[in-house]
Amino acid sequence: MTTLQIHDKLFKPYISEEAIREKVVELAAALDHDYKDKNPIFIAILNGAFIFAADLFKSLTIDAEISFIKLASYKGMKSSGQVITAVGLDIEIFDRHVVILEDIVDTGKTLNEFLPQLRHQQPASLKIVALLHKPDATVYPLKVDYTGFEIPDKFVVGYGLDYNGRGRNTASIYQLFE
Ligand code: 5GP
Repeated sequence: MTTLQIHDKLFKPYISEEAIREKVVELAAALDHDYKDKNPIFIAILNGAFIFAADLFKSLTIDAEISFIKLASYKGMKSSGQVITAVGLDIEIFDRHVVILEDIVDTGKTLNEFLPQLRHQQPASLKIVALLHKPDATVYPLKVDYTGFEIPDKFVVGYGLDYNGRGRNTASIYQLFE
C-alpha cells in the first residue's frame, strides 16, 4: 500500500482511479438521460471540483454548457457571521436548467448558503451533483441530487481535493490515517 505524505499528515489509498472513472461514467449516463434536450448549464465550484468537472463534462454526450465559479466567504454585517458570494458568476441562468458540480459536500453549509442566491435568479431547475458526500457530517439541510460516493466523516484528498493547498494532483482519492 502506497501511502501519501502531505505536509505533516499521512494518507492511505481510499478510492481508486478505476472506481472513480466508473462512477463518473455512471453519473454522466444519468445526467445524459435526465437532461436530454434541456441544454443544461453546469456550474463547477472551484478549486476542488476542477478535475471531477472536466472528467464528468467530457463523459457527457448531450448538448450542455459549463461555467466555473469560486465561492468566497467573508464576514458580513449580519450577526450570523459569514456571507458566501460567487466570484465569476457571469452567466444568465434565468429559465435555464442549472446543475452544480461540487467535489464534496461535508456540513452542507457552503451550498446551503449559496443556493438561495442562485434560486433568486429563477433558473428553470437547480440540482446538485457531488462526487463525495459525507452524510454523517451534514448539519445544514441540503438535498444532493446525484452523489458519486457516500463516505464517512473522515478527511480525504486527491483528484482535485487538497490539504492546505497540496495533494490535488493525484488520480485517486486518499483518506487520512487515524
Ligand atoms: P461544507 O460547506 O459542505 O461543510 O464544505 C464543503 C467544502 O469543504 C468542500 O467544497 C471542500 O472544499 C471542503 N471539505 C470538506 N470535507 C473535505 C475533505 O474531506 N477533504 C477536503 N480536501 N476538503 C473538504
